[in-house]
Amino acid sequence: MTEETLPLRFETRLALAELPWFEEDHGEVVLADKSVPPVIDTHTHYALPHLSIHTIDIERETPDSNLLLGRCCAHHLDVRANQCFGPNELVGLKRELLLGGLTGKGKRRDHTAPNLARDMRQMNVVQSVVLAIDFFFPNNHARDTLTTARTRSEVVGYGSVHPRSLFPKVKLEEQLHLGARGIKLHPPNQTFRPDAWYAMRIYRMCGKENLPVFWHAGPAGIEPKFNQSFAQMRHYERPIREIPETQFVLGHAGSLQHREAIAMQRRYKNAWLEISGLSLGQLREVIAEADTDRVLFGSDWPFYHPVLPLAKVLIATEGQPDLRRKILHDNAARLLERTSRPI
Ligand SMILES: [Zn+2]
Repeated sequence: MTEETLPLRFETRLALAELPWFEEDHGEVVLADKSVPPVIDTHTHYALPHLSIHTIDIERETPDSNLLLGRCCAHHLDVRANQCFGPNELVGLKRELLLGGLTGKGKRRDHTAPNLARDMRQMNVVQSVVLAIDFFFPNNHARDTLTTARTRSEVVGYGSVHPRSLFPKVKLEEQLHLGARGIKLHPPNQTFRPDAWYAMRIYRMCGKENLPVFWHAGPAGIEPKFNQSFAQMRHYERPIREIPETQFVLGHAGSLQHREAIAMQRRYKNAWLEISGLSLGQLREVIAEADTDRVLFGSDWPFYHPVLPLAKVLIATEGQPDLRRKILHDNAARLLERTSRPI
């Protein structure tokens, strides 16, 4: 099969085993091609935030990771990842995110550290960056993420400080003590504009501590309009321009506004693009137009299995082994290395 004749639409996750790099093993799709370099996944989460009155044991292995785009869902490469959800599945996803957050129940009980490690091994992901998200409601997401991450050699933990926190510096320092290697901020879910003054103070603190800021960036198309307004790419430029000592990762490479994100990444050396959620077509544009020394692989597990973005990267980099290695591994290794902290 040449690149042009490869299938791009798959009825289930396992059907991806049809592609030349993968095979089936005990009912799971696994990476089989030994020439594919080891992978670093820079965008993953443990069980998404829930009210602090509930507890989820994120150290427990369970038989199925129960990802939000489940194994039986279509996995299409030629559309954005969130377009793989059918209309009914999208309703289910929204219910899952909201009710699960309130009750601590549902699929997130399977979004645990050993399950993440198992799914990553299937794709030869040797290191995962696990991102916390601090919410306005009482939650222990950063603490839980970081305390588990520090016990696992295959994981790097990023904390999260809600930009409107009363004592952001205290929170940040607490998370540094728990081993945070970066900070994740989510403008639409945390309902703030990325260029708000109170967010700027966090970016400056991160610059001083040599912590990268990992943003959810750009509108995804499935969030409420009100939340979407916070994620417009034009709001991300001022911090990147005014705080050059801080490294900024544009998660999802700007989502629907990937062209604006690419332009920003080219303009500023402290901006990186992380590719989870992109369609194959968008990924090809990133590869053709962005600075490929600052493009990072990511899956957004537990939304998606890493096979989904990996298949796209393998197709888009066929015949370009150096480029493939940079995107799958070396760029992330360099970012992690330059923001590593003394123990
Ligand atoms: Zn995410």
